[in-house]
Amino acid sequence: MQAVREHGGIVRVAAWNAYSWLIHGFSTRSAGDFRGRCDDEAVTRIFGGGKATATPRQVHSNRVARADCGWGNTRPEADAVVTDRCGLLAGVRTADCAPVLLVDPARRAVAAVHAGWRGAVAGVLENALDRLNSEFGSQPEDIEAAVGPAIGSCCFEVGPAVAARFAPECVIPRKPRPHVDLAAAVRRRLEQRGVPRVFYVEQCTKCNSDRFFSHRGEGAGAGRALSAIGIR
Ligand SMILES: [Zn+2]
Repeated sequence: MQAVREHGGIVRVAAWNAYSWLIHGFSTRSAGDFRGRCDDEAVTRIFGGGKATATPRQVHSNRVARADCGWGNTRPEADAVVTDRCGLLAGVRTADCAPVLLVDPARRAVAAVHAGWRGAVAGVLENALDRLNSEFGSQPEDIEAAVGPAIGSCCFEVGPAVAARFAPECVIPRKPRPHVDLAAAVRRRLEQRGVPRVFYVEQCTKCNSDRFFSHRGEGAGAGRALSAIGIR
């Protein structure tokens, strides 16, 4: 399902506007560079709600952290954050990796997941679903997911060793090197765990570098987008 709208530099899932208690979005370039930045006031203003933020120190792992308050500068190493606290935004930073937001409307619990290829194949999405279940009782069939702007299969060229880590249907056999469909790999993993609704932004960050930060397009100095989700 692809149904998104952009306002004020933030891309949102249109269907989630029905959840008046939910704050969510994926930032675009016009919302600014969130590399290393953790200014609660600016973040909550840009995303339109919340009081504090919890963004981990991302290490391309499969680790999930639970947040019960803003983390400030004492951020744990993790690549996913779960919370059910009102006013707290769980967030991840990306520039080509897939940001994935999860919401359980039944239990009112949320997660933000940084799914680059390493984290995805290591199981960071499955671990986030497991943690939502163990902390808040969330069932996969109640959870809805949104995959934000990420590098598309058009541009995600990888070596054969990386391609071999993905299911064959997520690999496009191009010459000289294969390409991976990261969003498809994310969807496949979520669906295999019983998550029925997955929304996409479906915008390649590298092809659309005027709107999004891209590590592949701009190199190590690329800025970072912030994707965040929380309960009002
Ligand atoms: Zn592309």
